[in-house]
Amino acid sequence: MEFTPIIGLEVHVQLLTKSKLFCGCPNLFNPDNPNVQTCPVCIGLPGSLPVMNQEALRLSQKTAMALNLNLANFTKWDRKQYYYPDLPKAYQISQFDLPFSYDGWVEVTLPSSGETTKVRLIRAHLEEDAGKNMHDESGRGGDSKVDLNRTGTPLLEIVSEPDIRCAEEARVFLEELRLLLRYIEVSDCNMQEGSMRCDANVNLHVHEDGEKIPTPIVEVKNLNSFRGVEAAIEYEIKRQVKAWETDRKRIGDVPKETRGWDADRGQTFAQRGKEDAADYRYFPDPDLVPVTTTDEQLEAIRATLCVFPADRRKSYVNDLGLSEYDASVIVDQGREYADYFDEVTSVCGDGKQAANWLTQDVQRELNDRKIEIAEFSISAAVLGSVLQKIVKGDITIKSGREVFAELLKQSDDGTTVSAESVDAIIADKGLGKEQDTGKIDAAIQAVIDNERNAKAVEDVRGGKQQAVGPLIGQVMRELKGADAGSVRQMIIDKLTS
Ligand SMILES: [Zn+2]
Repeated sequence: MEFTPIIGLEVHVQLLTKSKLFCGCPNLFNPDNPNVQTCPVCIGLPGSLPVMNQEALRLSQKTAMALNLNLANFTKWDRKQYYYPDLPKAYQISQFDLPFSYDGWVEVTLPSSGETTKVRLIRAHLEEDAGKNMHDESGRGGDSKVDLNRTGTPLLEIVSEPDIRCAEEARVFLEELRLLLRYIEVSDCNMQEGSMRCDANVNLHVHEDGEKIPTPIVEVKNLNSFRGVEAAIEYEIKRQVKAWETDRKRIGDVPKETRGWDADRGQTFAQRGKEDAADYRYFPDPDLVPVTTTDEQLEAIRATLCVFPADRRKSYVNDLGLSEYDASVIVDQGREYADYFDEVTSVCGDGKQAANWLTQDVQRELNDRKIEIAEFSISAAVLGSVLQKIVKGDITIKSGREVFAELLKQSDDGTTVSAESVDAIIADKGLGKEQDTGKIDAAIQAVIDNERNAKAVEDVRGGKQQAVGPLIGQVMRELKGADAGSVRQMIIDKLTS
């Protein structure tokens, strides 16, 4: 059987506003104190009136720009009617026919093949989140509870075209989306806390007798980890292949099915039937005025954007000569890490040197200390000044490591280290070029004076330059980290001048 998986994603992202979308309640993840972040507006008491949070719209518009979406100057709010215990007012304020943004794309590169694809986006719209139902999972019955802290949290829904063709592509799309939204600081996209969640629409195009036959679409709801998204889609593709072989049902033969994902058993399972948009009885919210945004306002938002992860990777490879792998390692660590790298590079003038230090020496310290780059005691300017001395040849890489270790030691002792600390350490420890040259000179003299080397020394004196090799080797063993080229030159100079 030949087939192509057809996958589209709907991603929900909570925005990092101080307050909720239509009231002043705090927008905080607070599962330990249920129902404390509520008011008449977000729980929908009669007579309460919503007021739109301007910052939520601004963060949404900023996101849309990063996702290459077109922005509408005019948008409005609609009521989506349904009853569920976590939605006490029995409707959700959302956007139906006039979302604030439409037609965008995200570029993703698959690690397995290196292939780059564009996943198109249909739209992004803003809506309020519902509360949370909590069921007793002991299996002994018990109570179901409702926590309305989350009710009314600003939620951005990003809907892709069914452009995704495999589970890996879905995962990479989500990872890239999360990285991008974190770079532009609109959401923490914390999947454990539910601030990024995903539904996947999956079906197959079966290739038979030159025909492409679409099978029924299944929506897998509430995927809350990257692994879950990938595993659920893989499972669903296999399940649908079997279903086709058994019942040969095509799209339209049965209603769209909604399934859940059981991460423990690694299976999707059938849930309630999916309502059509008609069942929600959308209508414009009479309590909220439509929103107009001027081009000037949009331009002011655009000015707050940073360089996006994909553009940074390209520039690290093309402008700094980094490998694609190193560029990704740095960019994927997040914006603060990439900003740190940029500053080190601009101070030392050598992106490759900066990348080596960041991905090895600095990363090892961060791992050992279990800290983020923002908490690292050696600032980018200070590390940059150490690397600048290496790049200029003032100190060796080995001496650079000694300076780095001493900087860490001093800052652990409570000193704030600076570029001046770097100079002081180099002077104290005698690591500078002059001291280095002195040391190398002494080591070379010792090797020349060693009787065992008399023959080689004579040969070099007599013009046989290839005899210098073993002498360089001995000096290098003595002075780990010295530059072999300059040692070679110094030995030749000493013996032939
Ligand atoms: Zn409220």
